[in-house]
Amino acid sequence: MKRSSDCVIDLQPVNWEDIGGLEDVKHEIRQSIEWPLLYPDVLHRMDLTPTKGVLLFGPPGCCKTTLVKAAATSCHVTFLSLSGAQVFSPYVGESEKIVSEAFQKARALSPSILFFDEIETLVGKRSSEKNQSRVQERILATLLNEMDGVGIRLDKKTNASLNQDRGRSTVGVSGPQEMQKMDNRGVGCTSIVSECNSSLDLKGSQVMVIGATNRPDMLDPAILRPGRLDKHIHVPPPDAEARAAILKVYTSKMSTSDLDLHKMSLDTELYTGADLKNLCKEAGLFALREILARGDPGSPICVNSHHFARAKEIVKPSL
Ligand code: ATP
Repeated sequence: MKRSSDCVIDLQPVNWEDIGGLEDVKHEIRQSIEWPLLYPDVLHRMDLTPTKGVLLFGPPGCCKTTLVKAAATSCHVTFLSLSGAQVFSPYVGESEKIVSEAFQKARALSPSILFFDEIETLVGKRSSEKNQSRVQERILATLLNEMDGVGIRLDKKTNASLNQDRGRSTVGVSGPQEMQKMDNRGVGCTSIVSECNSSLDLKGSQVMVIGATNRPDMLDPAILRPGRLDKHIHVPPPDAEARAAILKVYTSKMSTSDLDLHKMSLDTELYTGADLKNLCKEAGLFALREILARGDPGSPICVNSHHFARAKEIVKPSL
């Protein structure tokens, strides 16, 4: 079997400005995820126990994964991602092994964020089906056991100074170098500025575990207890202000005319961030189609309210 470090793919860094709205959520994430990773000694001096694990919950397509990637990008830490659906294996003991390996890798590439998407599929409430329930129990036990062995250690050397070290060692590199490793079982591992990790003196200590779910009610309560995923952050659907901000993010690189983002935000109630992204893409494609139909692909493309109206006929709200 191919091991998880065998193949490497690229992952785009995400900046906080790429995320429209959600200002309160961004603030909470920075406080719970970034601060412990960047300033562990400051928290220590203030006798504040750093968060070990965070649960993001909210409807699909509302930015949970993207927020975690933004935190990983801004902290310059390794980002490992494992989806619940990827863990289950027909081979006895294999699912637990996949989980353990992900933790092993997170420790080896620390400081790191280990992200479990759709975590309810991994450690959901015990199923009525006996075999499924046994596997879930074993995965839960592995996860709890592994979580006891990680966290944010309060070292003398801060991660902030660590990042400065990294800045020095990446002189000449135009931006953060990223890579994503993914094996044939789908274990993904993204490492940002990873070429510097080998020289770090914090191996195995700074691991932040983050879970995301659309169904917090489905989670086994054991994973939510203190010392586990005990910080819970709700990522809500975008309100009108957030929808305007998201539309601004996705139209900012287009040439546009007569767009009233405020009005559009009011007309897109029940659209998620993912829906709005899709709406902007479809509107752009309608504009392009018009140009191509005129047989003039070289002429400037301008996206207008008419294109958005047509896009809205095909992109429906998910909420
Ligand atoms: P799921 O529960 O289905 O995994 P999710 O909550 O993790 O969904 P993401 O995968 O982060 O959602 O978002 C889906 C897409 O929508 C991404 O391309 C993301 O960039 C975009 N998106 C969602 N919300 C926003 C937002 N507030 N600003 C900018 N883009 C957004």
